[in-house]
Amino acid sequence: MQKIAVLYDASQAVLSTFDLDEVLNQILMIARDYFHLQNVAILLLDKNTQELQVRSQIGWDAGMDQIRLSLDQGITGAAARLKRPVYVPDVSKDARYMVSAQSTRSELAVPLMVRDQVVGVLDCQSQQLSFFDSDTIDLLTLFSTQASMALQNAHLYSLEQHRAAQLEAINAIAKQTTAVLDLKDLLVKVCSLVRQSFPGDHVSVLLRDDQELMLRAHEGSLTLRGSDPEMLIGDAIAWRCMATGRTVVENDVARVPQYLAMFEQTRSKMCIPLISFGQTLGVLALDSGQLNSFQMTDSQPLESVADICATAIQNAYYVDRVRQLAYIDGLTGIFNRRYFDMRIAQEMERARRYNSNLSVIMLDIDNFKRLNDDFGHLLGDEVLRQVSSVLSQQLRKVDVVCRYGGEEFAVLLPQISAEQAFSVAEKLRREVAGYRFSGVPCAVTISAGAAAYPIHGGSRDEVMKAADTALYTAKQAGRNCVRMATVIAQAVGAAL
Ligand code: GH3
Ligand code: MG
Ligand code: MG
Repeated sequence: MQKIAVLYDASQAVLSTFDLDEVLNQILMIARDYFHLQNVAILLLDKNTQELQVRSQIGWDAGMDQIRLSLDQGITGAAARLKRPVYVPDVSKDARYMVSAQSTRSELAVPLMVRDQVVGVLDCQSQQLSFFDSDTIDLLTLFSTQASMALQNAHLYSLEQHRAAQLEAINAIAKQTTAVLDLKDLLVKVCSLVRQSFPGDHVSVLLRDDQELMLRAHEGSLTLRGSDPEMLIGDAIAWRCMATGRTVVENDVARVPQYLAMFEQTRSKMCIPLISFGQTLGVLALDSGQLNSFQMTDSQPLESVADICATAIQNAYYVDRVRQLAYIDGLTGIFNRRYFDMRIAQEMERARRYNSNLSVIMLDIDNFKRLNDDFGHLLGDEVLRQVSSVLSQQLRKVDVVCRYGGEEFAVLLPQISAEQAFSVAEKLRREVAGYRFSGVPCAVTISAGAAAYPIHGGSRDEVMKAADTALYTAKQAGRNCVRMATVIAQAVGAAL
């Protein structure tokens, strides 16, 4: 009768709280105070690795609680594997015994079960041989069922808490992202909010750019591979997510063939596609330095986050597009003078800082007035469009070509010297002269002037003026040719 009372008290104590640490503490205290055990441990089973890990203990020798046991190791492993208590009255006579305290003589391991699943082991050890009598074993076995229930409750409760926190995070992300219209700011914000409420050590957003998947923002404790984050492209897992439009979980990246991680320490990874209006814009990626950090079953809240982000990214794209339109020439679709002026100011600043070159080419269609007069304005417009397209096709991605005015174009060539700029201008002239303009019954040619910073001018205005003067010289020389600004012009400019 007294034993039943003990059991009742013990059950009440362990079931009185939902806090896991408190439950574990209660179990240990009861084992110590009611059952007079000086050495007790609760080991929990890691579902992914199928290993037992000490979660809480009293009486173990220092450092011993760091061990991880597979189910065929130790008396605790045997109890978990056999799903029944295993009692060893003399540990020195049992080959399965593994030392956790030098003074141990007898050991009782009781599996902690929820329904028919083992969730852990209650491990009791004594300094006396044959310490556990059959009544104590029965009582501890009964107690273990109460303890399991308490552990399960605490687990469910923490899951609930976790879900509630995630819902709150989703809400916060929804609220905060709709207010941010600048794409870069938006992505940084998303990474930071996701990092706060979801598993993993590093959050990143990768967006599709032409045929590539580029890293656009990231936050966390892992180390990026490569020196330039702007140039980092997605890894095989991100690509699979992008290609399939589905969430991908890899709990051991070493198993992914030819996997080259974006972060040095990545061991497991989860990628969620960013889909807006049926289009996959990119990938939200969570990297972890630990194996088995992600569960497919956890993907739903993250997919909600990804949906919100995708919509916000789409909005930011629209805003970007509207901003861009202010810099686009309506007739030709290439950049306008406003954009050129902004970019040359930036590039000049950069060239000064890094002591590098910067070149400008001014181009003008020859005898365009006559073409207009002879064949009409509409055909003139068409020639402007086709010349724009020929020029754009000949240049690098970093170069800027714009319609500077009427039938005049300007090209900005970062990190290009005067000689190289002259060759580029010559190539452009040749291409236009050799191009078959559809519907145009006469030859179309251009003249060009090239100038470079710093040899032809020390400022934006000086370089532009030098290029313009060179263009004038080319016209004087008979058109359909290129002239380079003279260094004398710069010397005069410098003297003024
Ligand atoms: P040059 O070889 O010396 O450059 O002679 P040009 O006839 O090309 O130069 P001019 O500056 O005398 O004439 C430029 C012409 O370009 C005048 C103008 O009507 C025409 N033009 C300017 N903008 C447009 C446009 O948007 N569409 C069309 N069709 N013509 C334009
Ligand atoms: Mg002209
Ligand atoms: Mg002109």
